[in-house]
Amino acid sequence: MSKAIYPGSFDPITNGHLDIIKRASKVFDKIVVAIMYNPNKKMTFSIEERIELIKECTKDIDNIEIITDDGLTINLAKKIGANVIVRGIRAVVDYEYELQIATTNMVLDKNIETLFFAARSEYSFLSSSVAKEIAMHGGDISKFIPIEIKDKVTQKFK
Ligand code: ADP
Repeated sequence: MSKAIYPGSFDPITNGHLDIIKRASKVFDKIVVAIMYNPNKKMTFSIEERIELIKECTKDIDNIEIITDDGLTINLAKKIGANVIVRGIRAVVDYEYELQIATTNMVLDKNIETLFFAARSEYSFLSSSVAKEIAMHGGDISKFIPIEIKDKVTQKFK
């Protein structure tokens, strides 16, 4: 069985993340979305809220699992038996950062591959921060955040 892990902050999940999850769910038998957190880093949504938000917009994907961890992705991948790490690349700025992580992970464990999904063009500018900035100023986030969770995310900034 092919199992991939998609790690990230997902603070909150955006249409860009969801697109990667959907595409990866067709490539692998199982896609494990891992909310990675650092207790010292301030996030907008709690871990519980982020899990709930992801669950709500991935109800129609049956080979998905959602987990959380505060350690190294590579150790988590090994622990759950995933031999692929999925990441998304939006633009050249992502490339440098992602290449550094992927190369480091390769040194830490040569049996786990990082596979990149190119962002769909309509989401290539989109990040959780951009969506939050719009919500914070009362803008319409419906093109950026999955429709199922739009109200909850908007509410957070009221
Ligand atoms: P991290 O803090 O680990 O970068 P994010 O939640 O911001 O966590 O992103 C997780 C992964 O999803 C990263 O590989 C990032 O490049 C990718 N990603 C984020 N937004 C998009 C998008 N709009 N389209 C495609 N990939 C994306």
